[in-house]
Amino acid sequence: MDLTFTAAEEEFRSELRSWLSANIPQEWTRPGFWESLDDDESFRLRRDWERDKADAGFAGIQWPTEYGGRGGTPGMKAIYDEEMVRAHAPRTVNPLGLTFLAPTVMAIGTDAQKKEIIGPLLRNEVVWCQGFSEPGAGSDLAALSTKGVRDGDDFVVNGQKVWTTNAVHGDKIFTMVRTEAGSEKHRGISMLLIDMDQPGVTARPLRQMSGASEFGEVFFDDARVAAADCLGEIGDGWRTAMLLLSFERGASGISQYTEFRRQYDEIAAVARTLGRDTDPVVRDDLARVLTELECLKLHSMHVLTQVEQGRDLGFEASMTKLQWSEAFQDLWEVYDRILGEHATLDTLPDGTDLRPLHGQAMWSRSVTIWGGSSQVQRNITAERVLGLPR
Ligand SMILES: Cc1cc2nc3c(=O)[nH]c(=O)nc-3n(C[C@H](O)[C@H](O)[C@H](O)COP(=O)(O)OP(=O)(O)OC[C@H]3O[C@@H](n4cnc5c(N)ncnc54)[C@H](O)[C@@H]3O)c2cc1C
Repeated sequence: MDLTFTAAEEEFRSELRSWLSANIPQEWTRPGFWESLDDDESFRLRRDWERDKADAGFAGIQWPTEYGGRGGTPGMKAIYDEEMVRAHAPRTVNPLGLTFLAPTVMAIGTDAQKKEIIGPLLRNEVVWCQGFSEPGAGSDLAALSTKGVRDGDDFVVNGQKVWTTNAVHGDKIFTMVRTEAGSEKHRGISMLLIDMDQPGVTARPLRQMSGASEFGEVFFDDARVAAADCLGEIGDGWRTAMLLLSFERGASGISQYTEFRRQYDEIAAVARTLGRDTDPVVRDDLARVLTELECLKLHSMHVLTQVEQGRDLGFEASMTKLQWSEAFQDLWEVYDRILGEHATLDTLPDGTDLRPLHGQAMWSRSVTIWGGSSQVQRNITAERVLGLPR
């Protein structure tokens, strides 16, 4: 395992650090700033800022230059993730496009799709949604019932998706659609790239327990999509989805580690403010989650080294998702225990604003569900990585 970065990678770090320090408004780094905005305003600010960042050359760090990327190394991508967290940079508005769709398009898309999808995605000209889950199909994705019927050069699509991140703000949606009538389970499904700005597509927000509406429902009523706008072969969407999900489950947890480590410091500060830092049970809890986080860091560096050596992680990506999501949830459970009866307060007696921390604690409940629940990741690891019997 290599724990160091090259001189060129460190040079990239200082260039990026300078750009971030000159281009992130001070007020954006104030705790509670993003929570004080409504969803639309937050989305607009982040969309524009990210476009400027792409124009300055700090997007698609590892992607080929011919598609507008920087052509950097996995080490540079890890540095990028670290520095973004360190600078309190805003969260991307295009996570589904950047992390999942683009690598899949680069791997199996046609040349026309690579040109049409990747550049506009980097500059946020097109914000992508993921249309996999349905009211009757979540972990059991192959139970999906959204249908596409061929009509000349198009498919006409009917059905419903749910829990769709960015449903209200998205421009396009990569959607799992059953395109072969009478097909069952994994066969006869296609991944269609559907324009959401058309009369046949309606998006409705769903309110989360944090009060935000980052996801929603998407309804297709005779929506049209060209058959050419299929990622992978028509009818072979299951294979496309499995490739995409291996990216969703993530190759390295470096950015998560950096963010969670900072959150750990914030939680430890709350323990000190409340005088709970001398309680041996709290100290034990904090030591345990800190150890989990340091294990996450080491595992992430191990994964990064393997990726740099050209190894395809495949189903092992499930282990990284499992590790970072459960470490994150453990961390915020410790926060809840430290707060005790203060959990219902927005501010502590010394004026500490707890709302951003409460928001993270609530968000932590979701991470062992999306991208495949922990139970599903354990099944995959057992069957596909360890080769245990089904
Ligand atoms: C914040 C958030 C954002 C999301 N964004 C998107 C998005 O953008 N696009 C999208 O398509 N979906 C999205 N989802 C949906 C997510 O992918 C699903 O919630 C997830 O796949 C689980 O499906 P489900 O909710 O139907 O639960 P179910 O599949 O019904 O699972 C219920 C419970 O049963 C367990 N279970 C199910 N099958 C098995 C099994 N075989 N073995 C053991 N245990 C099992 C699960 O672990 C879970 O505990 C999002 C979800 C969240 C929370």
